[in-house]
Amino acid sequence: MTRLLLCTDLDRTLIANGAQPESLGALALFRQLVGRKDVTLAYVSGRHRALIEQAVGQFNLPAPDFVIADVGSTLYHVAPAAWLQDEVWCAHIASDWQGLLHADLCRLLADVPALQLQPAQQQNRHKLSYFAALAENAPSLMRAVQARLQQAHIRANLIWSVDEPAGVGLLDVLPASANKLHAIRYLMAQQGFQNDHTLFAGDSGNDLDVLLSGLPAVLVANADAQVKSRVTNANSAAAGHLYLAQGGYLGMNGNYSAGILEGVAHHHPALDAWLRAQQLKLSGED
Ligand SMILES: [Mg+2]
Repeated sequence: MTRLLLCTDLDRTLIANGAQPESLGALALFRQLVGRKDVTLAYVSGRHRALIEQAVGQFNLPAPDFVIADVGSTLYHVAPAAWLQDEVWCAHIASDWQGLLHADLCRLLADVPALQLQPAQQQNRHKLSYFAALAENAPSLMRAVQARLQQAHIRANLIWSVDEPAGVGLLDVLPASANKLHAIRYLMAQQGFQNDHTLFAGDSGNDLDVLLSGLPAVLVANADAQVKSRVTNANSAAAGHLYLAQGGYLGMNGNYSAGILEGVAHHHPALDAWLRAQQLKLSGED
């Protein structure tokens, strides 16, 4: 074991904000792990920067080294005093939009009646976020948006999701290469991490690309049943790249950070031994 780039989704993966319980002590042990000099921590989230900073404070998460935010459309290098946006990544995804920016695409889509822009904090240079009524036919709406963008030679990645509590559809328009997987691969290349020295943890549909990419990965035990059944028979699981946390590791339940630790132990036996010793130490301090 030399170096590990640990990439984790936040909501319901590292952050225990789902319905299932969190194991006592799991996050403390996770914090110990990422405190090691040879572990580099990257948060990979659909949240924008301010919401990630808020979560770090609210849930007492360890400070990351890198943050891939806005579903891969921004990448930050986190220094103690500042978050520095990676302009090379920014330029890389900008080419998908022919150098056009947020305001230009807004104009192109201004007369699509079903779309209503979300508040300003949800927007950035390379991300347009809209509300759409749930009554809209999502596939035909997305076809219409895609057709409009293609006329302007814009390669876009459209992401449709539903805010269930609010009862509204959400449409994100991103550069085609702005997604979690591409951003992780870019970061790996930039920082010199091979597949064997990278691990991704996730829980839900927008993590599937990475979970099924062949990169070493773990699906936390609290993932929803649909995602579990989707990945169980996938090639990545069969080939041993993707591990499904079961619970039982170090007496923990496999949910959230306990699931990430279980995945780390599964893929890296040397870290497994270290985590076991570390847990004994932590429990001795109680
Ligand atoms: Mg999640």
